Amino acid sequence: QEEREKRRVYAKISKAALCHNMEAMQASLPAGIKMAGVVKADGYGHGAASVCEVIAPYVAFYCVAAAEEALELREKGIEKPILILGPVPGDNYASLIRAGIRPSIFTEEQAASLSTAAVALGIRAPFHLAVDTGMNRIGLRADETGVALAEKITAYPMLDFEGMFTHFYRADEWDLETTERQTARFRNFKTALAEKGLKPRICHVANSAGILNLHGTDFDMVRAGIALYGIYPAEEMAHTVRLKPALSLHSTVTYVKEVPAGEAISYGGTYVAASAKRVATVPVGYGDGYPRSLSNKGEVLIHGKRCRILGRVCMDQFMVDVSEVREAAPGSPVTLLGADGNERITLEELAEKSGRFPYEFMCCLNRRVPRIYC
Ligand code: PLP
Repeated sequence: QEEREKRRVYAKISKAALCHNMEAMQASLPAGIKMAGVVKADGYGHGAASVCEVIAPYVAFYCVAAAEEALELREKGIEKPILILGPVPGDNYASLIRAGIRPSIFTEEQAASLSTAAVALGIRAPFHLAVDTGMNRIGLRADETGVALAEKITAYPMLDFEGMFTHFYRADEWDLETTERQTARFRNFKTALAEKGLKPRICHVANSAGILNLHGTDFDMVRAGIALYGIYPAEEMAHTVRLKPALSLHSTVTYVKEVPAGEAISYGGTYVAASAKRVATVPVGYGDGYPRSLSNKGEVLIHGKRCRILGRVCMDQFMVDVSEVREAAPGSPVTLLGADGNERITLEELAEKSGRFPYEFMCCLNRRVPRIYC
């Protein structure tokens, strides 16, 4: 505890919350469905390798977005299968094959490169076929042209057609018609491939929104991203599975002073004290990923009370109003995200006030912020 209190800023990540979220999702899913943990963008800012270790008992796969992310996890000793959800620029497959990392494949060029590398190494290369059911981001089309292309892709030597997936793009909305259409397209495509004798062992469709809404959860695996970290993809889903936010953000007051009426606070003088204020300095800023757009808007918790940000958030510091918090003093703990006493600052609140998407807020938390797992 003492060690933590000495830190300028730190993110506390609850391993129990990560485990709770995995268990809660698992309990809501049909029996026997495997789970993949999506740990791209450094585990949505939570620290990918540490998250992988914590959720290992619950998952069959880890998913990342980029080859570098997958290789870094291997270097850190993460052993389970890893799927790269995006294309690999430069078709640099040899290092992935050696590390047992599965690429997403959906063009003949990718298949040819993967096959060449697999033949040269003498190792069969597992891959997952990316299927586009409507998002128009990546994947082969879920129609007869896609079936023909899948036949060509799977015919390349030394390739192992391990999996096939698609991605929802509107599963976090009330109206699930698009999502149902995507699922139906994927199911039909799977049947069409099976008629050609092509049967991947692991089909997976649902993201967090799909898992919480039970859409696309009746294939072999689901991919849990934001919900694994305890965040709902949309507020409407808060009535589904009970999730616990895993990350909270903390700092310590470094300085407290009286500011006379009429004086400005911080860059640009955008806040001028109408009356004398007691002001605390918090040593966190946009250089840590704390949004500058919270200037004059955001709040933090000090001694369980909400304290408003006064003036602009600087790169490494900002000021808050502690006129009503007489106990506030240098060394007082500051909660920027999370609970203190009966008050709580949620990610949704921060996202709304800063104009950032909740996923984005997490991903923007800088490496300068140490992650502490407890
Ligand atoms: N699957 C794919 C292909 C993705 O791109 C993502 C993330 O964007 C996910 C799964 C996880 O999504 P979520 O964080 O909404 O669960």
